[in-house]
Amino acid sequence: MSYDSDNIFAKILRGEIPSEKLYEDESTYVFMDIMPRADGHCLVIPKTPCRNMLDASPEQLTACLVTVQKMGHAVMQAFGAEGVTVQQFNEAAGGQEVFHLHYHVLPRHDGVKLRPPGTMADFAVLKDQADKIRAVLG
Ligand code: 5GP
Repeated sequence: MSYDSDNIFAKILRGEIPSEKLYEDESTYVFMDIMPRADGHCLVIPKTPCRNMLDASPEQLTACLVTVQKMGHAVMQAFGAEGVTVQQFNEAAGGQEVFHLHYHVLPRHDGVKLRPPGTMADFAVLKDQADKIRAVLG
């Protein structure tokens, strides 16, 4: 399967559609998931194209995981969480819906289940949550 440069995250990277940005560095970009399964649910993506883990370069994987760790600490601190879940899906059969490599970072509290997928966030709430994370990142 080849990379489709019209996928929604490629459009976000090009600034063609908006995103609630949390962080970026030379190689990665981080923004709020629009259908969060936990407060503070964010997505880490490489700035360069690849569909998923299967076609990613070692450099893309490394850069993403370094940022995933940074965001894991940030969302835990921002939401007073006791843990963090990282999810990453590969191809449709593996649960992937957007075909640009991404890692879900979800702060977790003891005994609190993830919400079911597919419910759109209230944008004012999403911005408030993003502000909390950005404040931690400084
Ligand atoms: P996956 O491909 O890992 O199954 O999930 C894709 C994720 O992208 C979902 O959690 C979904 O809520 C999120 N998503 C889909 N479209 C958009 C969008 O336009 N903006 C943002 N910020 N997130 C999106």
